[in-house]
Amino acid sequence: MREIMISHTVTGLDVMCRHCGNAETATTTYLKHFRLEGTSKDSVTLRCLCCHTAMSTPLGQLSSLYHHRAS
Ligand SMILES: [Zn+2]
Repeated sequence: MREIMISHTVTGLDVMCRHCGNAETATTTYLKHFRLEGTSKDSVTLRCLCCHTAMSTPLGQLSSLYHHRAS
C-alpha cells in the first residue's frame, strides 16, 4: 500500500500523505513538509515530516523535480 501519493502537475509534483493528510505541491527537491532521504541510484525514500511515514519510490517518479532544478 502506498502511504504517500505522488501525482504529476504542470509545474511539478503534488505530494500527499494518506496517513495524516499532509500535502504539498513541489517544484524542487527542497520540500517543506516532506523530506527526501536515502537517495540511491534508482530509488529515493520520501518521508512525511508530520507523521514520519516513509515510502520508497523510484527516482524516476521525482525526475521532474531534478530536471526543474537543473534548468
Ligand atoms: Zn503524514
